[in-house]
Amino acid sequence: MRLNPQNTSPSLAGKLIVTTSTDPLTRGLDYLYGVRSLALDPEMIDIVYDLENRKSLCVWISEHIDGVNRQLENYLQACHDCFHPWEQPAIQIYAAPLAQSFGIDALCNLQTNPITILIDVGRVVPTDWLLLVVHEYAHAHAGSPGHHEKYARSLSHLCLGLGIAPPEFGMESQLRFYPDCRPTQNPLAFWRGEHY
Ligand SMILES: [Zn+2]
Repeated sequence: MRLNPQNTSPSLAGKLIVTTSTDPLTRGLDYLYGVRSLALDPEMIDIVYDLENRKSLCVWISEHIDGVNRQLENYLQACHDCFHPWEQPAIQIYAAPLAQSFGIDALCNLQTNPITILIDVGRVVPTDWLLLVVHEYAHAHAGSPGHHEKYARSLSHLCLGLGIAPPEFGMESQLRFYPDCRPTQNPLAFWRGEHY
């Protein structure tokens, strides 16, 4: 799990997010309930209760989420390519709007099979999405939600492979926020289609 440095209060299974409806609101809600089922805690995706914002989010999701998830899958593949095939954990990755109250930008759920990575693409600028994927991939590779020595080794290996400066000291306090990502002003703006 990568904590959002702005908010220091306290990281999901196959292609199971399937929707058959053609109604944008239904399609968006199906997607949100799909990612809820993959989160560490379903309440991490609380937008389903936000009657004011959820319609615009669902419409945006129904039109754009496949393209966003394809991009995340490209980044996931770039991480896989840093390791031998037998060292690559089985991972699925999805974009999801994560509840502000949890204060996280992304998460890795080691309890699902395959391991699930959820990325809140509204919280950091798109050019830094790869950095969020790298942070969570290192959890999947280390097989642990902690930021200890094994995690530091996985993260450093990924950074070197992808041309990112590796963490210098390997201290937990640094690793929790590594690599550094540029935050957006309003996490929900991206999800509403309001590009900056
Ligand atoms: Zn973490």
